[in-house]
Amino acid sequence: MNTVLNAVLAADIGATSMRAALVDCDAGTLLARAQAPTHPAEGFDAATERLGALLEGIASESASRPVALGVSTAGPLDPRTGEYRHPPNLPGWHGRTMRDALVARLGLPVEVGHDATLAALAETRFGAHRGASDLVYLTVSTGIGAGIVAGGRAVTGSHGGAGEVGHLIVNPGGHACGAGCEGCLEGQSSGSAIAAIAGAPAEEIFARAEAGDAGAERIIEDAVTYLGAGLAGVLAMLDPQVVVLGGGVAVGLEGRWWPSLLEQAGRFALPRYEGNVPVEMTTLGDDASLLGAALWATGGAMEALGPH
Ligand SMILES: [Zn+2]
Repeated sequence: MNTVLNAVLAADIGATSMRAALVDCDAGTLLARAQAPTHPAEGFDAATERLGALLEGIASESASRPVALGVSTAGPLDPRTGEYRHPPNLPGWHGRTMRDALVARLGLPVEVGHDATLAALAETRFGAHRGASDLVYLTVSTGIGAGIVAGGRAVTGSHGGAGEVGHLIVNPGGHACGAGCEGCLEGQSSGSAIAAIAGAPAEEIFARAEAGDAGAERIIEDAVTYLGAGLAGVLAMLDPQVVVLGGGVAVGLEGRWWPSLLEQAGRFALPRYEGNVPVEMTTLGDDASLLGAALWATGGAMEALGPH
């Protein structure tokens, strides 16, 4: 087996599952991977134990010795300490951080970051826009959130809450998200919004629309319109070189719905974006946040980027 010098362990914690990988940070490739359920309601310590075991398993089976561990997670969290701050999808985890337990167990330096922020970092290093200094990664999935790289730095905000663009109001008085804001982007265009509006899972609505069901088509068209409005707001605020989309709903919008998404974004955006809306799908698939976690842990992103 070949050994890799810049091998870094990475983890990605979501509400449903936790993924772990060994990343070749020079090549941007995954050398090994594994997965376990999160079961957030079973408690923070049980999840930490499962993730630790998963990471140990990967490290022990590899010929390359990892130099650090990066953890990407759903948030919000304090980017300095990795402590959760009332995470809506990880109930009971407020005020906790896995960092100390993982440092003790693995004997490696550990950094923790927000999943969308780390995905944005990965895009600037391994995606289609390598070296970009101004890039937004927008995940359109069960929820909607963004990772922001601006002026060559990851933007996390004063409380780790930057990038919560899912709560930009795009339809005042419209459908509410789980946080209760009415007509926000997440309340109108996320997977959970499509499911709530349609009374059926978002995947089923995409399949029905594909089969020509006019009601389902209308629901997707509305989601596309509001997503276009949200994208226009992101462009106006940050002037990124590109907004990279990822997540299950974004994948559903590829192909048939993509031209109308660009059209709607162009319709709401400033005139300078006419016919040239810088919105693209990720080329990194589901691995963007794992790759970003590895970069975060080593400070191996562009010079100005990193956790400190
Ligand atoms: Zn909201």
